[in-house]
Amino acid sequence: MASASSLCLKGQVWTPQGPVDGGWVLVEGGVISAVGGPHDPPPGGEGAPSLGGREDLVILPGFIDLHLHGFGDHGFLGPPDLLPEALDGASKALPVSGVTCFLAGWTGLDPAEALRFVEAAAPCVKPQGQRRSGGAALTPCSEGGSGSRRFPPAPPPPAGPPRAHLAGLYLEGPWLALPGPVQGGTRDDRRPGRPAAPGGRQPWAASPLEAARLAESLLERAQSRLRVVTISPELPGPRAVIPLLARAGVVVAIGHTRASYEACREAAEAGATHVTHGFNRMSPWHHRRPGPVGAALLDPRLRVEVVPDGIHLHPAAVELAWRAKGRGGLVAVSDQVGAGTGLGVGEAPPGVPGARLWHADGGRAAWRTPTGALLAGATPANRLLQWLWTQTPIPRQESLEFLTLNPARILGLEGRKGEISPGRDADLVVLDEGFTVRLTLVGGRVAYALG
Ligand SMILES: [Zn+2]
Repeated sequence: MASASSLCLKGQVWTPQGPVDGGWVLVEGGVISAVGGPHDPPPGGEGAPSLGGREDLVILPGFIDLHLHGFGDHGFLGPPDLLPEALDGASKALPVSGVTCFLAGWTGLDPAEALRFVEAAAPCVKPQGQRRSGGAALTPCSEGGSGSRRFPPAPPPPAGPPRAHLAGLYLEGPWLALPGPVQGGTRDDRRPGRPAAPGGRQPWAASPLEAARLAESLLERAQSRLRVVTISPELPGPRAVIPLLARAGVVVAIGHTRASYEACREAAEAGATHVTHGFNRMSPWHHRRPGPVGAALLDPRLRVEVVPDGIHLHPAAVELAWRAKGRGGLVAVSDQVGAGTGLGVGEAPPGVPGARLWHADGGRAAWRTPTGALLAGATPANRLLQWLWTQTPIPRQESLEFLTLNPARILGLEGRKGEISPGRDADLVVLDEGFTVRLTLVGGRVAYALG
């Protein structure tokens, strides 16, 4: 029998076995307690008032975005003392796009900046493995950047709707050989070259010892909250940190690179398991120099991120990656930025005069330099799913998993998130026929409702 606080959503329910028309999901105590089809009468529970009794909507697991640098008005690349507020703001706002779990991403070339980011952001991350009791997922931060490594006990959840779960930190740098303008490089994709780094030093040219020292400092400050680090494997320093980070449980990603095919395979041998925005900001496939794209597609140890917005990638590139990697091998990310990075809506990023937001149909957009080079994404997760479902031949169940189950696995959260099954967290998104988010639940509570 359903309890008084239970919620029953009805519609086309996307279970691990596929969509169930006329299905239902019963949510109790913050988790999915039962799932059924038209022939199993639902055991009770209130409908969501915001859905107005509609039972023709699509019910999906909440989206998990591993790679973003901000959302809406909330950017993560600004001053560290503003970071806790930005993380809280983004985690409140993300459910409008169906995102219920995310990593906070920094990017740049300056090691000191990376350390400051980790120090300010790590206390905002809720430790893994702790089941919520219907409260907000994000530990609010009032003293970001305080320097304390002994994080205080989590205060009570803030009032108001629940937030998307901040599951950890993502560092896209500082060991990048091929940075773009957002990373502090000075040249765009059409004239790749050695950028000036802060202090005039190339961080990716650090010796193995220097790189290892920095990695240890980052790990120490992150206190297990660091989940993914992107490195370029062509030089000794970045290569040296791969086993060190992997041993600490960090997912090591290859990206921003012109490394050879062989160097990328060696990185995978050393412990790299991920490829950052595949095809983008890396040397392209060449039949005599297959490079990072060849390694990404062929090495089964590597999972590949894609930005499936139809701007970063042609549909054939995503299809090719899917055919090469198979089910479970791709992860869709938004690579979005937010205001506070200088990349807010209508703003030009500092150091990239004339950058503009480039709009496509279907709610898709991306940031470009004046010469057309891509700077960052600007397409919300629900529109990434729409593009995958309508513009590629990939089975819908599989491309849905690019945004749900596959990132959950990378975070070690499979069995808990990423699927609509009994016992999973009730992180759910309800879409209408136009792929507009009508309702998002985080931990069984309404984080966003349209209208
Ligand atoms: Zn990047």
